[in-house]
Amino acid sequence: MPPLPSLFISHGSPMTAIQPRRVGERLAELAQALPRPRAIVVATAHWLTRQPQVGGAARPETIHDFYGFPQALFDIEYPAKGEPALAARVTELLDKAGLPTTLDPTHGLDHGAWVPLRLLYPRADIPVVPMSIQPQLGPAHQYAVGQALAPLREEGVLVIGSGSITHNLHDFREGYGEEHEAPYVRPFIEWIERKLAEGDVPALLDYRRQAPFAERAHPTDEHLLPLFVAMGAGGEGTQATRIDAGIEHGLLAMDIYRFDDPAA
Ligand code: ZN
Repeated sequence: MPPLPSLFISHGSPMTAIQPRRVGERLAELAQALPRPRAIVVATAHWLTRQPQVGGAARPETIHDFYGFPQALFDIEYPAKGEPALAARVTELLDKAGLPTTLDPTHGLDHGAWVPLRLLYPRADIPVVPMSIQPQLGPAHQYAVGQALAPLREEGVLVIGSGSITHNLHDFREGYGEEHEAPYVRPFIEWIERKLAEGDVPALLDYRRQAPFAERAHPTDEHLLPLFVAMGAGGEGTQATRIDAGIEHGLLAMDIYRFDDPAA
């Protein structure tokens, strides 16, 4: 089996689960196009820790980590199994790469994990291992985490970073919408797309200084950091393909990226 690509997915608001719109269509198409993975590792922007942590639950619970949303969202369960052996392997790969990692035997699936996974694989029949993001350690660290996970793609494991390509929730107050997009969104996502197409890893890791409107697009960058995990997991010379899933509320760009082997 050829190695799987790794993915970055913009998961949007929790409402994406019941109003999946374009990202739902794009993810369903993607699931059709990909070879079926035997397991999934998902690094999620909603699990933040100082050092990498990996969830080793055999039956990870569905975490409803949001407030003020319709009851229908709280009723959703994503009953995928975990895979303790894979969680142990992820921990070992990261430790070997000099990234001390702990196994959390109980951590479940937050909405950054289950919202997109449910759109990709609604039957929840592929085991899922969640892992955390380290906002204090920055893009280069997250890229190194991804690189350490690259061998998993040869073992039928789909590595996913789940976040958002733009994520400024303060701007929900600014009255943006489909007819009136936040002015920073397109310049920022175009810069990311261009640098990924050029394979310019140093510029990407330095995006906060080099990308237009970086701090506006990400006042804090925990939602962009999963991109670097996916990019690193894509391996040396990986080829990035952008899948456009629109811009929600005029400010949340829903870009998906797949990172393939250049030879594939
Ligand atoms: Zn989120």
